[in-house]
Amino acid sequence: DCRLKMIKSRIRDFPDFPKKGILFRDICPILKDPGALSAVTSLFEEHVRGQFQHVDFVVGLDARGFLFGPLLAQRLGVGFVLVRKKGKLPGATVSVAYDLEYGKAEAEIQEDAVSPGHKVILIDDLLATGGTLYAACALMHQRQVEVLSCLVVVELKDLNGADRLKPHPVYSLLQY
Ligand code: IMP
Repeated sequence: DCRLKMIKSRIRDFPDFPKKGILFRDICPILKDPGALSAVTSLFEEHVRGQFQHVDFVVGLDARGFLFGPLLAQRLGVGFVLVRKKGKLPGATVSVAYDLEYGKAEAEIQEDAVSPGHKVILIDDLLATGGTLYAACALMHQRQVEVLSCLVVVELKDLNGADRLKPHPVYSLLQY
């Protein structure tokens, strides 16, 4: 698919960011290129439409899941829900703690954001160890929400994030 080539050409590598030994994949150039951003959205849309009959919400992860998630939600004609880092959301919330590739964090949603029985698509920019998406899956389970699939633009294969997320399927556009 030539769209994947175009998207790949819009990912930059930064060694030793944010810490020594980490090779950071920067997706900002995708956002600067409307063609590449549209290609990302179309590939996600085609995948979801091809795999799932019914989706209630697209759920985006703080922070770069917020860049791709609403575009996909609009294409699918469904709403967008935020999973945020702790302390950012007003009202009653539910949270879980988790480990990152480089640190610790807590993920949180508003209690009324999703309801038992809902089917959702999770989305983020990148899958590394899977800790972040795993936490979002745990939040969804707490709310008795079904995670249909975890979508990411980039998957870092060596870190085995997809194994950690099993049995939830992972769909990535690019693998490194
Ligand atoms: P994980 O929890 O280890 O899978 O890390 C994934 C989370 O960390 C995602 O929310 C990413 O945005 C962020 N992240 C980790 N490594 C990178 C990277 O190389 N580029 C961009 N984001 C990254």
